[in-house]
Amino acid sequence: MSVRLLGAAEIRRLASELDVTPTKKLGQNFVHDPGTVRRIVATARVQAGEHILEIGPGLGSLTLGLLETGAHVTAVEIDPRLAARLPRTVEENAPGASLAVVQADALALRSVPDAPGDSGAHGGPVAVVANLPYNVSVPVLLHLLERLPSLRRGVVMVQAEVGERLAAGPGSKVYGSPSVKAAWYGDWSLAGHVGRSVFWPVPNVDSILVSFRARIDGDGSPSLPGDEALRRRTFAIVDAAFGQRRKMLRQALAGVFGGSSAAASERLLAAGVDPTARGESLDLDAYVRIARAKTESSG
Ligand code: SAM
Repeated sequence: MSVRLLGAAEIRRLASELDVTPTKKLGQNFVHDPGTVRRIVATARVQAGEHILEIGPGLGSLTLGLLETGAHVTAVEIDPRLAARLPRTVEENAPGASLAVVQADALALRSVPDAPGDSGAHGGPVAVVANLPYNVSVPVLLHLLERLPSLRRGVVMVQAEVGERLAAGPGSKVYGSPSVKAAWYGDWSLAGHVGRSVFWPVPNVDSILVSFRARIDGDGSPSLPGDEALRRRTFAIVDAAFGQRRKMLRQALAGVFGGSSAAASERLLAAGVDPTARGESLDLDAYVRIARAKTESSG
């Protein structure tokens, strides 16, 4: 497909046509470098015919790069002016491409409509590829992974510290509750820094690409550590452990186990976890064992 990607002049022209002054509140930093767009698309290994979800298409830079592959794209944009202009931008630069635009808050998304011509064979998008609004990138990712089981992989651009946290394991300085929660859904890795100069306006933080891959069962479905009830319990324990990360687990988790650190110790031992350890030393598997131990204790 013949597609024209947007350069700096085109981005400025579109913004001025729409009278858009980019806002920090919505994380509006637009990519004006076709090389960066192609790098993101190549990292995500987007194939023709795949259904791709993009969050925050903005003026359409990455959307056009995704469409250039022949993929079907559903783009979810909260800003009504940007959402309304996107179909025309795509028609002008990638005529005939398969795009659906949803004007919505990604945090409230429950399902994703197919793009025109998509067979819907995978029951929804197979991958999320996005330059995410930085202030809500983790909640958006966790929300999508919880709601959209068709997602098998993703490549997202986020603030560098956030990306490092998503991909971190126990023992790392930046390991935190987002690291454990993200690991519930699959494996995360860093896929390279992106310079500030590719954005307009230039952000005051560094950016990084993060790649996500679901673990897949023999039948092709995503392999998760447990069902929705176990996920909720595990995440509540993770929040409690990292909410008081300097405390020993038997103290930090007392509230989760009926207010008693003795009961917490008992459950931690039953899960094979040292009650004097701190939350930052445990991997997802240990948190899941603690959540299961709680289930057994509470019947
Ligand atoms: N993809 C474009 C690019 O690379 O140039 C724009 C990326 S910009 C970092 C983030 C975009 O997300 C903006 O267009 C912003 O309006 C949009 N956005 C912010 N919060 C959102 C939300 N909660 N749901 C959907 N879109 C959102």
